[in-house]
Amino acid sequence: MISVKQAKELIKNQLPGRQTDVVEISSCNGSVLAGDVTSAIDVPSFDNSAMDGYAFLFKPDCNKLNVIGELKAGHLSQGSFIQPKEACRIFTGAAIPKGADTVIPQELVEKGDEGTIEFDIHSIKPGANVRKKGTQTREGDVILRRGRVLDPGALALAASVGVNELEIFHPPSIGIIVTGDELVPPGKKLKPGQIYDSNTTLLTAALDNLGIKPRLVFRASDNRVELGEQIDHCLENCDLVILTGGISVGDYDFVYELLNSRGVNKLFYKVKQRPGKPLFAGVRGDTMVFALPGNPASVASCFIQYVKPVIRHLLGFERPFEADAKLPLSTDFQKKKGLTFFLKVRATPSGAMVPDGQQSFNLMPFITSDAFAELDEEATVVKAGTVVNVYRW
Ligand code: AMP
Ligand code: MG
Repeated sequence: MISVKQAKELIKNQLPGRQTDVVEISSCNGSVLAGDVTSAIDVPSFDNSAMDGYAFLFKPDCNKLNVIGELKAGHLSQGSFIQPKEACRIFTGAAIPKGADTVIPQELVEKGDEGTIEFDIHSIKPGANVRKKGTQTREGDVILRRGRVLDPGALALAASVGVNELEIFHPPSIGIIVTGDELVPPGKKLKPGQIYDSNTTLLTAALDNLGIKPRLVFRASDNRVELGEQIDHCLENCDLVILTGGISVGDYDFVYELLNSRGVNKLFYKVKQRPGKPLFAGVRGDTMVFALPGNPASVASCFIQYVKPVIRHLLGFERPFEADAKLPLSTDFQKKKGLTFFLKVRATPSGAMVPDGQQSFNLMPFITSDAFAELDEEATVVKAGTVVNVYRW
């Protein structure tokens, strides 16, 4: 059996290639940019007013001016030319008229008779309240680089230079197959021996956190033919296939054998970890396959440790296997030597709090837990205060 570290290395060496796509900017939030973005224009593309006020040519002696017109944002000055001793009413964002170089805010102005304004010229500096062409961005500037995670600010910057499409890393198409004769979707009535399927909900929500809707979702019974057909369907249509359950050594655990018969090459099967020991990872062509042991906490920690990093890699993120935080463990924890433990924890600024109920079937710790802490394979006791890797959804 291999260690967690070895399992991750095997995956890292087989990571599928990333694909990119040109996508409308309105669909890019949270994606990673796959190509540099260069501005084709100066921004602002014309000198414009930063205030509501009056545009005029600054002279040390001018303090009474004739107002000759009005300029609104979005409207061109009709060839008007401001002469010395003249001003033009102007609003924020409107183009500065020719002949003017300064805007006096309206608050600093007294209106006089017959369309004049008066003000104290010492209250303002030459060139004040004018946003000059190109002060934000120059034509030809690279404004966003490949690898940048697109957040609302970055997207607004791209929009401000007129870009409406961006090249991003393409989300993988994902198939989910949740196996088990005992499973019933939540909302239906349970018959004796049945349980509610929580893995579908867990996986689709975890994918939603990554901005991904799975392409295919199957709930399969423990039946070779049916399960085989669903596996074929996913292998043909998806970049990544996630199965849960049926990968252990029970008589009705068909997943390993079916994947093998479909030409899925094993990267590894079984990892020295708890929960989730009988984890399988394999590849067929460009498709990666993970078969996760069915207990929900195993599904959660195997997803976060192995599947999520592969998806984040495909989405263009760097260092996808890195822990999200390093936190001191809140209490002593006794564990079995020779297995890496993944504990359900609540990640707080003061440490990783460990609730009771760490069994792999038990979801009650998720009342408070929002992360997993990694406890070293070799340790038998991890003392309170030991700094451990913490991974979030
Ligand atoms: P398996 O890996 O198929 O042997 O399943 C291990 C345990 O996880 C069994 O007790 C299953 O009933 C349970 N289990 C499997 N799949 C699910 C699921 N989708 N939701 C909740 N529990 C499950
Ligand atoms: Mg099963």
